[in-house]
Amino acid sequence: MKNALKRLQRVLDLEASQGYKNKAVVGGIRQFATFWVGQAREAAQTEMDKALVEQVAEVLADYGRLPGTEARAKVIEQLQSKLKQRRPQAPAKAAPTPKPAKQAEAAAPPPAKEQSPPAPKVESEPPLPQGKKSGKWDRRPASRKPIEPDPKGLAQPVTAVRGVGPKLAEHLAKIGASTIEELLYTFPRRFDDYTLMKPIHKLVYGETVTVIGTVWETRARNSRNNQVVVQSVISDGTGKVQATWFNQKWLVDKLKAGMQIVISGKVEQYLGRPVFNSPEWEPLELEPLRTRRIVPIYPLTQGLSSNRMRDIMRGTVNYWAPRVPDPLPESVRQRQKLESLPEAIQQHHFPDSQYALHAARRRLIFDELFLLQLGMQGFRREWQSQPGVEIGKDTAVLDQFQESLPYTLTNAQQRVVQEIADDMATNTPMNRLLQGDVGAGKTVVAAAALLLAAKAGYQSALMAPTEILAEQHFNGLQPLLAPLGLRICLLTGSTAAAEKAHIYAELAAGELDLAIGTHALIQEAVNFKNLALAIVDEQHRFGVDQRQALRDKGPSGGEYSPHLLTMSATPIPRSLALSLYGDLDLSILDEMPPGRQEIKTRWIRTRERERAYAFIRKQVEEGRQAYLIYPLVEESDKVDAKAAVEEHERLQSNVFPDLRVGLIHGRLSSSEKESVMRDFYEGTLHILVSTSVIEVGVDVPNSTVMLIDGANRFGLAQLHQFRGRVGRGAHQSYCILVADSDTPDAEERLGALTQTNDGFALAEKDLEIRGPGEFFGRRQSGLPELKLASLLDMDMLKIAQAEAQTIAEADPNLDLPEHALLRERVAHFWQNAGDVS
Ligand code: ADP
Ligand code: MG
Repeated sequence: MKNALKRLQRVLDLEASQGYKNKAVVGGIRQFATFWVGQAREAAQTEMDKALVEQVAEVLADYGRLPGTEARAKVIEQLQSKLKQRRPQAPAKAAPTPKPAKQAEAAAPPPAKEQSPPAPKVESEPPLPQGKKSGKWDRRPASRKPIEPDPKGLAQPVTAVRGVGPKLAEHLAKIGASTIEELLYTFPRRFDDYTLMKPIHKLVYGETVTVIGTVWETRARNSRNNQVVVQSVISDGTGKVQATWFNQKWLVDKLKAGMQIVISGKVEQYLGRPVFNSPEWEPLELEPLRTRRIVPIYPLTQGLSSNRMRDIMRGTVNYWAPRVPDPLPESVRQRQKLESLPEAIQQHHFPDSQYALHAARRRLIFDELFLLQLGMQGFRREWQSQPGVEIGKDTAVLDQFQESLPYTLTNAQQRVVQEIADDMATNTPMNRLLQGDVGAGKTVVAAAALLLAAKAGYQSALMAPTEILAEQHFNGLQPLLAPLGLRICLLTGSTAAAEKAHIYAELAAGELDLAIGTHALIQEAVNFKNLALAIVDEQHRFGVDQRQALRDKGPSGGEYSPHLLTMSATPIPRSLALSLYGDLDLSILDEMPPGRQEIKTRWIRTRERERAYAFIRKQVEEGRQAYLIYPLVEESDKVDAKAAVEEHERLQSNVFPDLRVGLIHGRLSSSEKESVMRDFYEGTLHILVSTSVIEVGVDVPNSTVMLIDGANRFGLAQLHQFRGRVGRGAHQSYCILVADSDTPDAEERLGALTQTNDGFALAEKDLEIRGPGEFFGRRQSGLPELKLASLLDMDMLKIAQAEAQTIAEADPNLDLPEHALLRERVAHFWQNAGDVS
């Protein structure tokens, strides 16, 4: 006990001398306390000491959460005076201590080794293969010599981490970590908070807690259903508790009587007594990794256990996090009170406290939003760094166009046409985003802009991500524009060579007004005479390079930027869109043309699936077509593809043997996908089974049923996008959601879908249910993937936006040496924004 008290004294003194920063011990005072209390409970013999230990336990448990230096100082002083008061008493007649406990004390390593203030660690020490082998508590040296950033080291493949071989690297690659840096950015899915420490006699049913004690005995037996059940009894001097594990026979040899152990888990009730079922456990002498702390829970794949993953992360984070260069200018960090990147990364894996986790999260979220904003602002600036062509706003042309249409433009359409025409009338190149839900009538708006350009004597291009989509645009625009005198061509990869040569010549000579196509439009060989307007469909499919290539097609070989209009069908709530896009010009088509048919949406249970099949069959017999979306099995193309292949096989041979059923999944090449889509488009296939890869904009008017199996696994926005594939023709269309409700969220989502067809209403709803993250998944939005940020955090978004502007005003192209790293990060962050298919 004397030693234990000395150790405590030393830590308290150190904490006081360091200004109560909760840093005297790495991991924080609380973590030290839990360790200390565990040992002291065993050592305490007198009632007075026992009381003292419990007092320490209680007081220090909340230390890190105390609001300020003063409160902390008070607590430390109180304890210090308590320690001084304590007069050593002759150990009373040894209270009957359990035998094993005594053994434990004897077997326990000399405490000083663990408990002395952290000794400086050799900094160049490579990561230990398994964090737990280090047996040390300190992960940072007390006297901090600055560690140099090591970007080269971070770029190494994960196999450079000791203990990670090729096999493991494969597993890690599946969760997106190929390099050490990516591994650092593979953050836990969630955290389990095991910081609540309790003596055994104070356990409360249902609470998630940590208990420190000594193994009294461990036994294995076979249960009735032939499982091996391992049971340990653990005692901490205040009581005993039983812990049970299933099918882990080897634990019998591990959990030997006398071992000091830490158990974390939920307290359950068995025969009126508290027990733990399959709790996490660790030997007390090891650094806390999965007990008595906030424990990270990582995304897993088959073949990679959570403990293994934590070990790897521990070693990697310890060594590499301090070596991550921080791209954020010091001024920004200070203004926004953000912690350093190494600290944030560290704390977002192995947080010292909830507060530290929160601060880490704040920093990492800021980074994402900041890079997002810098990228968007940078792109806009670059696009507008050279003049555009003034295309006069010819009202007569617009009137003529309106008269040529079989319907009146909606108010929203008229407003947006005006916005676009106004943009194009200036010599600042337009950079506008046009948003409108599926069916909102974007095509006719695009047509108006194309017409204005052509009538002013300039050429335009409309670029789509796939051949089918390009063809669809061609088929949609041709009847609107050809009668008004526009000369239009379609140029894709499969355009015949002779035809291509012909088109190239005509484009160069200015004999064509509008080229509609795929990436084929921005190939070297294509030269426009005077390209003044580019319309890009579904912006996300185009990477930065491709947009650059598009810009280079502008007049005089790129001395002018064409006006750029990007069309997106992702409905984003206006407030969010505005704060996201900042001053990027945004047009929203928030009004549906009249007479749109309501897609009837039904939600059925999985056991009713056969009924849905029967319904599909009936529709096909009436000459219609159907989509069948197969549920996401996991976030892996490979697994999903395999499952979908099997499902297709089953549907084709058992359910619809007499119909033609096609299949499309993420493992097909784009030409394979395209060919299957074409078969469906042309009616050769009756039913199309697909994973979630199905094209966003594909328009097959004859399809009337969209069946989404496992609908609970998809987000609201995605479900809405799927549904948008039907209801595009004259026939009544249906969307069938097949799912058993598993969570209240899923229930709310599916319920919302059955109630409305309005994408904006659903977007708002989704925002309400779960934050907007999903609208900004890469596939949907063309924005880089956000790992942590939720755009719901509008305050942060605004701050990031303002800071990005400040930086840009001083150094628009991030040319200053102190921004070099930032520039690189922006490029890296945006790299995956385009080209996802
Ligand atoms: P989006 O591309 O936004 O999904 P489309 O441009 O394909 O939508 O338009 C969907 C359908 O609505 C088309 O058949 C189009 O002819 C029709 N449409 C567009 N605007 C109007 C309008 N103002 N009134 C009636 N029908 C319209
Ligand atoms: Mg469209």
